Amino acid sequence: MICSAGARFLLLLVSGVALALSACSPQQPAGTARFLAFGTLIDLTVIGVEDRAFDRISAAIQNDFAYMHKAWHAWDPGPLGRVNQLLPSGKPFAVPPSVLPLIETGKQLAEDSGHLFNPAIGRLIALWGFHSEEMDPGSLPSAEEVERLVRANPRMSDLIIEGIMLRCTNPAVQLDFGGLGKGYGIDLAIQHLRELGVENAIVNAGGDLRAIGSRDGHPWRIAIRSPTGSGVIGTLETRRDESVFTSGNYERYFTRGGKTYHHIIDPRTGYPARGVRSVTVVHREATVADAAATALFVAGPEHWHRIAQQLGIGFVLLVDEQGILHMNPAMAQRLQLLDPADHEIRLSPPLTAARTVSEPPRQAPLPTSGPAQEP
Ligand code: ADP
Ligand code: MG
Repeated sequence: MICSAGARFLLLLVSGVALALSACSPQQPAGTARFLAFGTLIDLTVIGVEDRAFDRISAAIQNDFAYMHKAWHAWDPGPLGRVNQLLPSGKPFAVPPSVLPLIETGKQLAEDSGHLFNPAIGRLIALWGFHSEEMDPGSLPSAEEVERLVRANPRMSDLIIEGIMLRCTNPAVQLDFGGLGKGYGIDLAIQHLRELGVENAIVNAGGDLRAIGSRDGHPWRIAIRSPTGSGVIGTLETRRDESVFTSGNYERYFTRGGKTYHHIIDPRTGYPARGVRSVTVVHREATVADAAATALFVAGPEHWHRIAQQLGIGFVLLVDEQGILHMNPAMAQRLQLLDPADHEIRLSPPLTAARTVSEPPRQAPLPTSGPAQEP
């Protein structure tokens, strides 16, 4: 299943790049590189640097991703694995520096999303069999097991950080940063690219990406993944510095007895979240966009607007189980659907709490959020 998802990613990446290139006739040199991290293909595109400089830059970024992949892997042994081993004891221990920022950011985003985004439910995700490349638990988890883990109520707020020491007040907490790590990694990669003097680039992890600057003065045009997982539903142009993230039920799943079970778990029920096919979020920081796409998927067609408001998100597209497109007006204004007549569209009230550039950063060392505003 990982292979077929990879193939879909490839298709999408090809179309994404083609769209970006067709927006203009390139004047500046463009470097592209592709490598594997976080179980997906990472595509790096940098504009305006010569070949030899690009080779150095791309080696540095590839190195970053290899490090992050190892540090944050949810089931391979490594720093996060060690943290997960130590958490249930309840005793304080020194957190590896590679994991601490993810815990701090994860705590904040869990809080802002009303704990619909909840990286503390690692035990539930493992129970459903998503802590393996095969993504097949053999048999479905029993209702009692699921209920026991839901009742134990693992939350990021059970983690107490004092300096570099961490302790956990709930033995049910196991960390899984599958809904956040890719975004955080992309933010760090963009920060590193800027330190290396790059002003125009895209870091694209299987269709989830952050784009900075432009392509010879033209905005990057980004393909939005179709909720079927293959193909494109529409496109949008990024504004100076933005991330576009999609969470979908087609990403990782298995079928049992004719029913499909996907990898985004509703922490309130312990079962795969229902009612949504995909959610696309546009936000400046990839970290926030990644967590928000997962949180809004769990929130569903009824509640996504409130949670987006709480998270300070300015642009959302949610495709529900019936194929209806839910959007806020600012998203509708900038999204170019490939076949507008094919879709029923439901516009929400404007999102008014979107963070703006003038606000202080939510958390060092990430850049400030914004500039998302309803017209
Ligand atoms: P993808 O990384 O495939 O694009 P997401 O960003 O939505 O998709 O992340 C899904 C992953 O996040 C799951 O595979 C799992 O590791 C983790 N996860 C599942 N449910 C939740 C949840 N409610 N809150 C936080 N993380 C979750
Ligand atoms: Mg996510």
